[in-house]
Amino acid sequence: MDKFNADGIVIRVQATGETTRIITVLTAEHGVLRAFAKGARGAKSKLQSATSLFAFCRFSFVRSKESLIVREADIKEIFFDLRNSLEALALAQYFCDAAARTIPEDGTGEEFLRLLLNSLHFLCKNSKDKRQLKAIFELRLAVLSGYCPNIVACAHCAAFESEIMYFDPLRGTLACNNCAQSEGIALPLSVVSAMRHIVFAPFDRLFSFSLAAPLLQVLEECAEHYFLAVTQQKFKTLEYYRSVCTLQSVPYD
Ligand SMILES: [Zn+2]
Repeated sequence: MDKFNADGIVIRVQATGETTRIITVLTAEHGVLRAFAKGARGAKSKLQSATSLFAFCRFSFVRSKESLIVREADIKEIFFDLRNSLEALALAQYFCDAAARTIPEDGTGEEFLRLLLNSLHFLCKNSKDKRQLKAIFELRLAVLSGYCPNIVACAHCAAFESEIMYFDPLRGTLACNNCAQSEGIALPLSVVSAMRHIVFAPFDRLFSFSLAAPLLQVLEECAEHYFLAVTQQKFKTLEYYRSVCTLQSVPYD
């Protein structure tokens, strides 16, 4: 039997059998893993909290035949404060859903894990506008998954900037003021800069930029359209987030 340990966060939970859970775990070293947690839905199970959505744990796995089984798990963080806000909780659920359905199963998960953990930390602290966090998460997740938009310059004339540029979320390209026909979302230059920042910034600076509230709306629209276009998926968790979203509670000024 093949045993190994890994730090990872639970990004999907499914029930099977009487008390078993199948969990999808995003780990740094092993990418995305699916594992059985036997008895985890039992009221007295030690694995109950550790195999819940958002639980970040040191997992101990054993490979048995074709399946991976959770032997033990030590909880490091459960992001409890997400439960203080329905919006934060719904957005966190969307982040996990998007991660579970986008991140390739083979390969390292280190960058993906950092992105998700940091996004959840900021959501818990409620210190950043959710539209900004969502745009960062969607756009950077797309880039890490191999879908980098071509936003360095105008796709037609290679102009680096014009006062307004147009982003085509289906192609992931920019057009300058002179070249744009009718395609795409009109972006003030500050939104173009924010998108370039999200795509190209080193991770430790990824979350540190600011944009006025009305522009965050435009940034969010671009990131969401692009993410949905490249993944070609529909996310019920995104629809749910939209349904609970109220702009009044955004702490931005
Ligand atoms: Zn141009």
